[in-house]
Amino acid sequence: MSNATQLLHSIPVDPLTGAISVPIYQTSTFVQEAPGVNKGYDYARSNNPTREALENIIAQLEKGSTASAFSSGLAAIDAVLKLLKTGDEIIAVDDIYGGAFRLFTQVYEKFGITVKYTDTTNVENVFTAVTANTKLIWLETPTNPTLKISDIEAIAKIAKASNCLLCVDSTFASPALQQPITLGADIVVHSATKYLGGHSDLIAGIVITKDADLGAKIKFLQNACGAILSPFDSWLLIRGIETLHLRVKQHCINAQAVAEWLCTQPLVDKIFYPGLATHHNHAIAKKQAKGFGGIVSFTLKEDTDAAAIAFVTGTKYFLLAESLGGIKSLISHPANMTHKSIPAQIRRANGVNDSLIRLSVGLEEVDDLIADLTQAFNKIPILKKVYQTKEISQLA
Ligand SMILES: *Cc1c(COP(=O)(O)O)cnc(C)c1O
Repeated sequence: MSNATQLLHSIPVDPLTGAISVPIYQTSTFVQEAPGVNKGYDYARSNNPTREALENIIAQLEKGSTASAFSSGLAAIDAVLKLLKTGDEIIAVDDIYGGAFRLFTQVYEKFGITVKYTDTTNVENVFTAVTANTKLIWLETPTNPTLKISDIEAIAKIAKASNCLLCVDSTFASPALQQPITLGADIVVHSATKYLGGHSDLIAGIVITKDADLGAKIKFLQNACGAILSPFDSWLLIRGIETLHLRVKQHCINAQAVAEWLCTQPLVDKIFYPGLATHHNHAIAKKQAKGFGGIVSFTLKEDTDAAAIAFVTGTKYFLLAESLGGIKSLISHPANMTHKSIPAQIRRANGVNDSLIRLSVGLEEVDDLIADLTQAFNKIPILKKVYQTKEISQLA
């Protein structure tokens, strides 16, 4: 059975009424027959049938034993961090999601949990960074915004040999393309806000574990700390996931076409897309994922803020916004948006140049998207002149 068929038939039909859509159990509590005698639910923070249906669907999608749904991707990451204790050490990918970096350094370091960042695209870097205190290896693959690819299977072997957990933030790939648990990861997290939801209409996070024991620890934290996903958002997320495979397939086709077209553009300098043969770890991406995803980043030959701003404000279909993975194409300028809080020198050293532009390639007709990018490129020299004139007139 294909993954798409398995997914659609893992969505339960309501046993009470035959409803083909999972009912939204919008309730806080469940009436008990006698103290402690109930139908499997007592209080909706602990468990809710709509959320439970979602969690079962995602556990199957990721080939894990347990999934837990949270109110955001960061709440999901936070739950994983709470498995650790003072003195424990994390080894994390250097091009990590900004929100995870903030959580690790500004919240968890003060509790005595240290984080070492390394370029995990080279497996040896992980091997040399591991110490007896390492309890967690944190990967994102592909990364945001430079689409770095790390070898999940090889790093899982290092984690296993070092007796520490491997967690993969698989947001950019989604389970339609990559299932880290089948490659040896212990934990997978998602910002379900992105491809799982797929419609830019909710904020949600998921933790999936390989082992049921570890899953029970995450479920304990979900209830004890309380950052649960609401019944309505759980339903909305199921609704989004129903078309995951179809959407992601088309995102990949459109992104590949856009990336290849960008290679022919005279104003473009570097292109970051794992589907290009020139990508540093193209072979690993090909080995561990069914496709290369919908995100493409690139830099301009004129590596300035002004040129990037002219471009990102010049598109019509690529809407200027943070986030990604929705059906409508989005464009962003990390240096001035998601990565603004990172000091410029550190940001540039990590490959996030002033002119880096990130595209979340949506499901519009790809010819329209390329036409949109073409007209935006045509605006750069004009706007450059406008900027220069402005500066000159300001001087005068
Ligand atoms: C967006 C994102 C997150 C955070 O998820 P939220 O749902 O915004 O809290 C974490 N990891 C990655 C890779 C993301 O893109």
